[in-house]
Amino acid sequence: MKAILVREFGGPEVLKLEDVPTPRPAAGQVLVRIHAVGVNPYDTYMRNGVYAVKPPLPYTPGSDGAGVVEAVGQGVNQVKPGDRVYVAKTVTGAYAEYALTLESQVHPLPAKVSYAQGAGIWVPYGTAYHALYQCTRARAGETLLIHGASGGVGIAGVQIARAMGLIVLGTAGTEKGLELVKREGAHYVFDHTKPDYREQILKATGGLGVDLILEMLANVNLGHDLKLLAPQGRVVVIGSRGDVTISPRDLMTRRASIHAFTLWGATEAEEKEIHAGLIAGLENGTLRPIVGKELPLAEAARAHKEILEPGAFGKIVLVP
Ligand code: NAP
Repeated sequence: MKAILVREFGGPEVLKLEDVPTPRPAAGQVLVRIHAVGVNPYDTYMRNGVYAVKPPLPYTPGSDGAGVVEAVGQGVNQVKPGDRVYVAKTVTGAYAEYALTLESQVHPLPAKVSYAQGAGIWVPYGTAYHALYQCTRARAGETLLIHGASGGVGIAGVQIARAMGLIVLGTAGTEKGLELVKREGAHYVFDHTKPDYREQILKATGGLGVDLILEMLANVNLGHDLKLLAPQGRVVVIGSRGDVTISPRDLMTRRASIHAFTLWGATEAEEKEIHAGLIAGLENGTLRPIVGKELPLAEAARAHKEILEPGAFGKIVLVP
């Protein structure tokens, strides 16, 4: 089969399409014919060798994908060959024509969800779901700012929060991104490249501030976020690419708090709940993954460059 292999850590050019043996499922494992692969920013950090999770070389990247069960190992009874599934983590990597997974890492893909959409479920929707339901226990009627709403996690957050009954404010850096965020359910949108957008956010809340912030670029925004919070407000750090200075008094005066997590740390019980919630949302249409761009698997390097550039529009998906 064809698969992307990383033989040394480095820039996008280290992603090479190679011929490798198609894996065979051992007991408890599932072989999935991958029809679409989700590209996530962390794939690029891992490829650089700077991420908390550093795989042994060579490795095939990718935790997110969707396709059809090709074969199952002994003892597998939750899925069978021919089933449409999405993949949430793998044993051998999703940037490939076939991926081995554990039985617990494949989940039914509802009929109305395409393979390309299915490739954008686990990391983006799992993260947004965990942030809103499990980490901060967001409640209907609360005001939520999604700081960076046009990308994978942001759009997932907009759709989930809207379905939960929150008042959603979202930011993006392009006209196209702003339109998408609005279309997917945000009540108010703001351009995070404009110098006065934070004042506009405060104004939209009648000067009260927001109850909750999902932060995609904490190294740039965390200090400012604290000044946008209402009393008892909370910020969830989802993405950060460096250090930042904050004024603790901004927290003290508001009795506010900062939360943070990585999805890797979700417990088995949390993961089970996340998948149940996401599958229900995909079935009833409140969750609709947005595929902004599809590229052939051979263009993985281009996808890794583009995912870090401004102008996000939902997900970038690779097609093996
Ligand atoms: P993505 O699809 O590339 O989207 C990036 C988002 O950040 C876009 O909405 C982009 O908006 C926005 N952005 C750019 N500049 C910004 C600024 N100055 N202020 C606020 N937002 C800004 O990435 P993603 O998949 O949504 O992930 C977002 C971040 O969360 C990444 O850093 C990723 O590594 C991290 N993440 C963490 C976890 C976790 O477990 N903690 C899980 C998933 C993702 P424009 O392009 O429109 O400017």
